[in-house]
Amino acid sequence: MKVFVAGGAGYIGSFIVKALGEKGYDILVYDNLSTGHAWAVLYGELIRGDLNDNKTLEDVFSCFKPDAVIHMAASIVVPESVKYPLKYYRNNVINSINLMETCEKFNVKKFVFSSSAAVYGIPRVNPVEEDMALNPINPYGYTKLMVEKILQDLPIQHVCLRYFNVAGADEKRRIGQVVKDATHLITRCVRTALGKYRCLEIYGNDYDTDDGTCIRDYIHVEDLAQAHVLALDYLMDGGNSNVFNCGYGHGYSVLEVVNKTKEVMNINFPTKFKERREGDPPVLIADSKKIRKMLHFKPQHDDLEFIIRTAGNWEKKVWEEKLF
Ligand code: UDP
Repeated sequence: MKVFVAGGAGYIGSFIVKALGEKGYDILVYDNLSTGHAWAVLYGELIRGDLNDNKTLEDVFSCFKPDAVIHMAASIVVPESVKYPLKYYRNNVINSINLMETCEKFNVKKFVFSSSAAVYGIPRVNPVEEDMALNPINPYGYTKLMVEKILQDLPIQHVCLRYFNVAGADEKRRIGQVVKDATHLITRCVRTALGKYRCLEIYGNDYDTDDGTCIRDYIHVEDLAQAHVLALDYLMDGGNSNVFNCGYGHGYSVLEVVNKTKEVMNINFPTKFKERREGDPPVLIADSKKIRKMLHFKPQHDDLEFIIRTAGNWEKKVWEEKLF
C-alpha cells in the first residue's frame, strides 16, 4: 500500500513514518522542512515540497499514485496563531484544501487527518468524549475544526485524530522533537533538569484541581503513531469516516510532571509559580474508549516515567549535537 505523508519529516510525522515503515508500507514523505528534518525520515522517499504548490503536489501524486494520505503538515504554536491568525488559516486550512483537491483529482479516497484536542476549547466535562461541544478558543483550534468540517463535506473516507498532549521520543534516540524555543511542559522540564533553563515556571497554582495546577493527558508519540496506522487500516478495511481522541484517558498535573522529572532525571531544579497562562483549560483528559474499542488501540507506553526518560535522553542529544 502506498501512503503519502504530508509533514512526515516533523516530530510526530517521523514517528508515523517509522511505524508505517516497520509494517512495510510504501511511503512518500512530502515536507517543506520548515520545522522538519531530512534525517528524521527513517523510511520511504522524501520530497521537499510545499502544500501551497499545487503543481508539485500533482506531479508527485501522478508519479507516486498514493492509495491513502496522512496529513499532519501544519503550524502548531497556539500563541503564534493568536498573533498571526492569517498565517495559520493559510497554512493549515488553505493548504489542506490544496491537498484535498489533489486527492479529488487523483481519486484518493482515504485520508487521515491530524486534529487536536484544541477543537474542544475549554471542556465543561472531563474526560472529553468525541461528540462533546466543539468550541475552539484560538485560531489554531479553529483551523483544525475547519479542516474536520471540510472533510465531512467531501466524498473522502477520513479519520480525524484529535491529539491530546504528545510527548516522549524514540528509545534508541534516532528521532524526537527538535525545537529551539520550547513551550511544552515536558520539554521544558527536562531542559531545566539538564541545566539549560534556570527555573521551571508553573503557570497557575490556583486551579480547581487537587494540587491547584493544570491536568493534561500525556500520550507517548509512539502510541500516537500507532493510532495512525490503525486509522489507516480501518479505512482500508472499509471503515466509515470517523473521529477519535488520542490520549490515554487519564492525566497528570503540572506538579506531578515536575516531580516525576526530578525523580527520573535524578536531579532537583528550581520552580516558580507564575500567573495562569491565558486560554489554559484546567483539565484536559481524553475519553479514549472509542479508539480503544473501534480501532483496537492498545497503548504500549502509558507510563509517565517512560515518556519523560525518552524525552530527557533525546534532549541530551539535541543539545550535544546542536540539532536545532
Ligand atoms: N506549563 C507550565 N509551565 C511551562 C509549560 C507549560 O506550567 O513551562 C503548563 C501549561 O500551563 C499547561 C500544561 O503545563 O497547563 C501543559 O502545557 P503544554 O504547553 O505542554 O501543552 P498544552 O496543554 O498547552 O497543549
